[in-house]
Amino acid sequence: MAMNPIQFQPGLSMPEFFERYGTEAQCAAALEQTRWPNGFRCPRCESTTYSRVNRRHHTLFQCRACRHQTSLIAGTLMQGTKLPLATWFLAIHLISQAKTGLSSLALKRDLGVSYPTAWLIHHKVMEAMVEREARYVLDGQVQIDDAYLGGERSGGKAGRGSENKVPFVAAVSLNEA
Ligand SMILES: [Zn+2]
Repeated sequence: MAMNPIQFQPGLSMPEFFERYGTEAQCAAALEQTRWPNGFRCPRCESTTYSRVNRRHHTLFQCRACRHQTSLIAGTLMQGTKLPLATWFLAIHLISQAKTGLSSLALKRDLGVSYPTAWLIHHKVMEAMVEREARYVLDGQVQIDDAYLGGERSGGKAGRGSENKVPFVAAVSLNEA
């Protein structure tokens, strides 16, 4: 399955992180940009016209041509959870910035969630971090051409600015089931 990873700047400070990804709206916008860098495209019929349908937890995108509904988190590691996107983003940031790993217990404290929730998030993020497939930067500024992880590149030269990015999390599926 093709995936777009989300990446953060290395050494992004907590104030900087919260400035960029502190609100649900900011996280949704970042995810939307990652998922559809060239604008919405229906995963079923490829149409580009859509309406937004606001639901309790997440906004749905409804294709105007075939009426297929999809959400920003469909096909991502966040799929099926009711946690705020902001919680996921913070978790991803904390885990990816931790030099020596982060325990579920530390994550529980940092996120203010229950231990089982912290464990689940931890597990899913770590799982995604070993995905080597696709590449896209969260803020949309830099597109990476080659898959790489942990500084290791697989084939060829990576895209512009890749040296300044921490390899991150394959979070967004391009081929939604
Ligand atoms: Zn459609």
